[in-house]
Amino acid sequence: MLEPMIGSMADELAHLLGDDALVTGSLRSYGSDATQLEGLIRAPEVVVAPGSAEDVAVLVQWAYRNEVALVPRGGGTGFAGGAVPIHGEVVVDMSRLNRVRALDPGLWRIHAEAGLTTATIHRLARENGLYFPPDPGASEQSQLGGNIATNAGGPHAFKYGVTGAWVTGLEAVVPPGELVRVGGPVRKDVAGYDLKSLLIGSEGTLGIITAAWLRLIPAPASRLPVVAGYEQTADACAAIESILASGVVPAAIEFIQGAAVDASRTSFPLTLPDTITLLVIAEVDGQPAETANSREEVRAALAPDSVTLWAPDAAAETAALWRWREGVSLAVAAEHGGKVSEDISVPLDRLREAIDQTVEIGKELCLPACSWGHAGDGNIHSTFLIDANDREDLKRAQLGGRRLHELAIELGGSISGEHGLGWQKRGRLALQWDARALELHGEIKRAFDPKNLMNPGKKT
Ligand SMILES: Cc1cc2nc3c(=O)[nH]c(=O)nc-3n(C[C@H](O)[C@H](O)[C@H](O)COP(=O)(O)OP(=O)(O)OC[C@H]3O[C@@H](n4cnc5c(N)ncnc54)[C@H](O)[C@@H]3O)c2cc1C
Repeated sequence: MLEPMIGSMADELAHLLGDDALVTGSLRSYGSDATQLEGLIRAPEVVVAPGSAEDVAVLVQWAYRNEVALVPRGGGTGFAGGAVPIHGEVVVDMSRLNRVRALDPGLWRIHAEAGLTTATIHRLARENGLYFPPDPGASEQSQLGGNIATNAGGPHAFKYGVTGAWVTGLEAVVPPGELVRVGGPVRKDVAGYDLKSLLIGSEGTLGIITAAWLRLIPAPASRLPVVAGYEQTADACAAIESILASGVVPAAIEFIQGAAVDASRTSFPLTLPDTITLLVIAEVDGQPAETANSREEVRAALAPDSVTLWAPDAAAETAALWRWREGVSLAVAAEHGGKVSEDISVPLDRLREAIDQTVEIGKELCLPACSWGHAGDGNIHSTFLIDANDREDLKRAQLGGRRLHELAIELGGSISGEHGLGWQKRGRLALQWDARALELHGEIKRAFDPKNLMNPGKKT
């Protein structure tokens, strides 16, 4: 019975949106995101790629008329299973909405469609002497819409904030199929409730983002990193706190610990002593003279107890360092073929406990464990290394994930600092929020999407 229904649905959508909007061939790649390493794969039956915001509105109207659920999909690099069509939903591939509607370098702003990749936004800004700071990894694949829908962070969120801080306006299709605009090319706007911020980070559960107005800034003329290696976590965490005490505002403060150092050691630009268990990367940016002074202060803060200290000057070395940093996640996954990674966040003074407890939980579950992430923001990718084909490994790692979420709450933090709840953390908001706050969360969902057809079951 399923086949004819699927066939007619695809035909109907092709008729509605045009043949070129219907994705044909193998749809397997639409069945997973970065949680594939945790074994989550559900290939869809129907994928559509609308060619315009107006077509997205037509699609949502059709979905609401026919009670068909939709899953918006950007680059599919999410770490929460948010873009995976768990219940056989129609997947909405946003990649054809990839036009720059306006770029005004003199006014430091861009109006871009949701399907543009993060790397394209970075490149357009750079070519015009400007800078768009949000830099989640996998930038060649991830899309602006996905970044906004997850309110993605990245290393430089420490100084510059997460994606939402750069969005001055949004265009989105909300049920039952209306194209709405909140905000725009304005830098200040307090009219009405903050619907823009509700859509930011909503993980496709309230509507489909079709375009955004973004703020840009002049590109910093100079960037200078310092890398320090430590034998003890406590020393590294004390050094990170010393950076803050120095009064310098680094653009990024990252860390890589334990098995994550080991997994990526061979590709690090320098030879690292074997005794290092934790690396800290801190980068300052700004005008050259100011940056050189700030870097000296950061170096002085990181030096005590470090066993390695490296402060590259050449832009090529800095680029190589960040390329290496972006590869850490994949290098860890390659160790055992899979991993379960959380992205808890904790107050900075609890960072050491979160790092140590991750390893302890791993030991109790007989799984190698490590962490890395955005130390300055207390945002930790606590990770268990698994064989993704081994169900027992997976079950233990998922139990470990639950323990990490409880730990985050215990330490005064959050179950997700940047990846969102998606499908993988469904039902966990209750660990963190009071009953009434949770009720309001549900009421907001119902106000936007009364039929629960927008990415159902996610972000709960
Ligand atoms: C190697 C690696 C490193 C990463 N590093 C970081 C990091 O440093 N910081 C960070 O925050 N994340 C990081 N991520 C996670 C991921 O890249 C980000 O969450 C990214 O913003 C997701 O964008 P995407 O386009 O791939 O979204 P997808 O995975 O396609 O979707 C993510 C969610 O957004 C929804 N969505 C997508 N597009 C739209 C739209 N147009 N309208 C409404 N909803 C939509 C989906 O339904 C889903 O719920 C990393 C991922 C990888 C693989």
